[in-house]
Amino acid sequence: MQRSLITGGAGFIGSHLAEALLAQGQHVVVIDDLSTGRLENIASFIDRPQFQFVNETIRNDSVMDRLVSDCDVIYHLAAAVGVELIIKDPVRTIETNLFGTETVLGLARRYRRKVLLASTSEVYGKSNDLPFRETADRVMGSTTKSRWSYAESKAMDEFLALAYHKQFHVPIVICRFFNTVGPRQTGTYGMVIPRLAKQAVDDLPLTVYGDGQQTRCFCNVKDTVRAVVGLSQEPRAVGEIFNVGSSDEITILELAQRIVQRAHSRSEIQLIPYDQAYESGFEDMRRRVPSTEKIKAALGWQPTVMLDQTLDEVIAQFRTAA
Ligand code: UDP
Repeated sequence: MQRSLITGGAGFIGSHLAEALLAQGQHVVVIDDLSTGRLENIASFIDRPQFQFVNETIRNDSVMDRLVSDCDVIYHLAAAVGVELIIKDPVRTIETNLFGTETVLGLARRYRRKVLLASTSEVYGKSNDLPFRETADRVMGSTTKSRWSYAESKAMDEFLALAYHKQFHVPIVICRFFNTVGPRQTGTYGMVIPRLAKQAVDDLPLTVYGDGQQTRCFCNVKDTVRAVVGLSQEPRAVGEIFNVGSSDEITILELAQRIVQRAHSRSEIQLIPYDQAYESGFEDMRRRVPSTEKIKAALGWQPTVMLDQTLDEVIAQFRTAA
């Protein structure tokens, strides 16, 4: 039976991944310091005999040494997450993303383990060269704008993983997640769908930032997890980078209207300038669309869950919680 270690496995994507691996009959160990992860995300399977939860930071070398030596594959998802958190706490973003990954890769080298590294569409930055291909140039803002520290720290993680593969033959696979959504995602760190869905359920104004004409493509976490598991089991994926996301584009204003409608809400939509929402001089991406040709060719993967279904799932979650 394969033993998987998921760093950040009490988080949104990590907890769905843990569930999927358990369903395959695997043994799953989650390490999470619950800084942004939550126990309730893993509550439905925490007592399963094939599951173990370790409440610890990935920067604890001796604990990580033991966990890596005991596993076959590491899914490295632990990272600072969410634009709002990154702006509020850039030190934590940079240190967690850089030092945590350094620990994971060093141990993977020592014990010859495979690493699936979670990266992000943020690494493409403000590029207008759409759709984003894995080998495309990246366009970053100034270091005085803290948003970019997330993209840069994740890009360094990618460089380091590729270097460990090249120099030490560590089997790594990099997944660049685009906007991923679904139940268990919290709005606390800025993510738009849980925030707007909660506002709609509470009949509060929906906070759309800027002019609302910026676009995103939202992928259901179930599809994302299917991609991650598929890539971890595909030998030709080793040493490669893959975009994982939907290419169905929607403006944030239209998204807000759709949420109001599907929640049968009385809420109004409020446009809020970026410098009020985040910090002065904040830079947003106007559009963000992945090219998914590469993962389609490797796995035959494509998203199957439509946005409306995801919105219904998220709205239902907030109704139950209310
Ligand atoms: N956004 C918004 N209202 C909110 C939260 C976010 O309009 O309450 C916007 C945000 O400015 C961005 C988009 O929604 O243009 C997606 O934001 P999110 O933080 O979910 O992900 P990002 O794509 O920025 O990483």
